[in-house]
Amino acid sequence: MKCRLCNSNCTQLFTAKVLSKYDVKYFSCPNCFLVQTEDPYWLEEAYANPINSTDIGLLNRNIEFAEKAKILIYFFFNKEGKFLDYAGGYGVFTRLMRDIGFDFYWQDPFTKNLFAKNFEYDESQSSIELVTTFESFEHFVNPIEEISKILKFSKNIIFSTNVIPKPIPKPNDWWYYGLEHGQHVSFYSKKNF
Ligand SMILES: [Zn+2]
Repeated sequence: MKCRLCNSNCTQLFTAKVLSKYDVKYFSCPNCFLVQTEDPYWLEEAYANPINSTDIGLLNRNIEFAEKAKILIYFFFNKEGKFLDYAGGYGVFTRLMRDIGFDFYWQDPFTKNLFAKNFEYDESQSSIELVTTFESFEHFVNPIEEISKILKFSKNIIFSTNVIPKPIPKPNDWWYYGLEHGQHVSFYSKKNF
């Protein structure tokens, strides 16, 4: 298989059981070191529930990201600007940032906005100072395409994902493969970033 980041030929690492039923092949790219699943044919099923039920860290993570983003925005960005939380899930982060006083908007084609109602992003809004997108990169089947989409909103991105440990862990030795929900398909390293 060709690497979804740099198009080099990948080497197969192992097969793992995804969603308790699919034997999915995982590959590593010898050029950019992206670890990736084979072309993910199981995503429709994986996203039947877009916020997977095993994600018990959602609230704590959003509080932590809000604390960090607040500091970065304060020191490095125009805090009077407009901000967009891309793939913003239930809108928890947008809500937290609005409560702090930042003009944040929400966008997510797959999830219902529960906490930041009336602050959905729409194209007519003026330029966006910064896009935040947390725990989305590992979901990207076409990272280059997705990152290009984000860069159309703003040249600034704050994002989070877990980089793959070295040596590459076995399927059951790293929770972040997310075998039980099947939504994580791309695993990055500092090199490919
Ligand atoms: Zn590559």
